[in-house]
Amino acid sequence: MSENMYESFGISPKVVELSDKITASLNDRFAEIDKTAEFNQMKVLKAMQDNRVSAACFAGTTGYGHDDLGRDTLEKIYADVFHTEAALVRGQITCGTHALGIALAANLLPGDEILCPVGKPYDTLEEVIGIRDCPGSLKEYGVTYAQVDLLPDGTFDYDSIKNAINDKTKLVEIQRSKGYAMRPTFSVDQIGELIKFIKEIKPDIIAMVDNCYGEFVETIEPSDVGADLVVGSLIKNPGGGLAPIGGYICGREDLIERCAYRLTAPGIGGDVGASLMLNTQLYQGLFLSPTVVAGAIKGAIFAAALYEKLGFNVVPKSTESRHDIIQSIELGSKERMVAFCRGIQFAAPVDSYVTPIPSPLPGYNDDVIMAAGAFVQGSSIELSADGPIRPPYAVYFQGGLTFSHIKLGIMKSLQELLNDNLVEL
Ligand SMILES: *Cc1c(COP(=O)(O)O)cnc(C)c1O
Repeated sequence: MSENMYESFGISPKVVELSDKITASLNDRFAEIDKTAEFNQMKVLKAMQDNRVSAACFAGTTGYGHDDLGRDTLEKIYADVFHTEAALVRGQITCGTHALGIALAANLLPGDEILCPVGKPYDTLEEVIGIRDCPGSLKEYGVTYAQVDLLPDGTFDYDSIKNAINDKTKLVEIQRSKGYAMRPTFSVDQIGELIKFIKEIKPDIIAMVDNCYGEFVETIEPSDVGADLVVGSLIKNPGGGLAPIGGYICGREDLIERCAYRLTAPGIGGDVGASLMLNTQLYQGLFLSPTVVAGAIKGAIFAAALYEKLGFNVVPKSTESRHDIIQSIELGSKERMVAFCRGIQFAAPVDSYVTPIPSPLPGYNDDVIMAAGAFVQGSSIELSADGPIRPPYAVYFQGGLTFSHIKLGIMKSLQELLNDNLVEL
């Protein structure tokens, strides 16, 4: 009976057997992740209780959105969860890049310099900063940019960072997740050490962390170790898969106030911005986020263990500690990348009948393949996989709202590889 169900889903007994064996071997690891989830669940729950969340918080406002109880309370909850003085959490923040762009533009003035001490920032920030020219970039406003790369072993280049800090250095931007780079993701403790080092050289530097994909992976956040601003997207971790749009910025009150003025207009700030009908999803998504993130990490570890077993290089390894929800798997050929992504797509609840194929994407030199069948378009807390078609032919995969779904997606990916004789079991 159950085997028939797997078969009708296109998964062979061999794949089921291997997958179950791998899952069973991960029990201890999964128990640790559950413990982190429980802690973070408690953190979110406590913040909701302390801020007296009630049904009134779910009523939306329209128009200017003055006195929006749900929005204002949600911001207090985010501030409590991240242990910051203030927070800006809005549907009017359209995506992660927008949130990061607001935080930068609000807190850098002409003549200031931004320093990236961990190498080139996320692709989309290149235009925000002006590393690649773009109308409206910080560069156009006279904000200069400095960058210190990581050392070849992936650690911080403290000497060069020290040399790069000067009178103009106003803000450092630290990206927690590796994103699409090959470097490791930083732990919160590592970020804390870096911030401490920088602030010893120049105490008034604003330490801003791009927290995308990192929320709730550990029991502490960068704001617990000295970050003045933490920034992220609600269609990633903290939206729990339910938030249909939005971004957040948590941090020092004076800096957040500037962000609010930048988001709306000077003088108006955070007092306007109707929540429309978003509040329930933003609250409920945050409530679910710790366990959704835990499921995504389990799924990433499962995939790492399975593909390691088949002899592929994976980053991070199945036994390594986790600091974000991204898993990369070096598949070694275009054909395998395509088959892998097909499997993920065929396991999606939405658009499962679509076949992903590599195609050109603006800003990329190589064709890119993407698999995603999400309830929220472009959401990468939902199961998704992608990668540029170039050596080492790595797919990056992330998210998944439940561990079961991720497991089935990975099983389908392996099945596609088997069907095309691209791996042997
Ligand atoms: C996703 C992401 C961003 C940008 O977010 P968008 O919502 O795609 O604009 C920035 N930094 C990192 C590390 C990310 O993962």
